[in-house]
Amino acid sequence: MLFPTHLLIGIIFFLNTYQFFKGGNLILFFIITMFFSIFPDIDEPNSKINKATGPIGILIAGISKHRGVFHSLPLYLILFGLCTYFWSNYYAWAIIIGYLAHLLGDIITPMGVTPFYPFSTWRMRGLIRAGGLVEGIILICLILIVIWTLLFS
Ligand SMILES: [Zn+2]
Repeated sequence: MLFPTHLLIGIIFFLNTYQFFKGGNLILFFIITMFFSIFPDIDEPNSKINKATGPIGILIAGISKHRGVFHSLPLYLILFGLCTYFWSNYYAWAIIIGYLAHLLGDIITPMGVTPFYPFSTWRMRGLIRAGGLVEGIILICLILIVIWTLLFS
């Protein structure tokens, strides 16, 4: 999926989960969720996050295949553990929520994701082509869901 679709799914995940977590700054929780809803695409040389991170993005895209380790749950479980140990369990959940939002956006595409790579090559995939007409329709629906959630919940 494209950058705005990932961001919107991230916003919807945030709006529907933040109330379950306590113990920190909500705005920072939101920023971390948004960051990790786009971060996995750092392994794709043409993505916004890859270009924005300069040499780090070039290095990551050089050593990791697209939708490999950086799209895989084990990396985010490690980050969850490190964040919990060294900083805060509250913000560790923001990492997981952002990642799961990104994962949902990618598993509905034909390329799909191998969520347990490199331990398993089992692939979750769907039928919706990234950047196609259906994604455009999904994008409009996501915008309406965000507006609906902000107004009525
Ligand atoms: Zn992705």
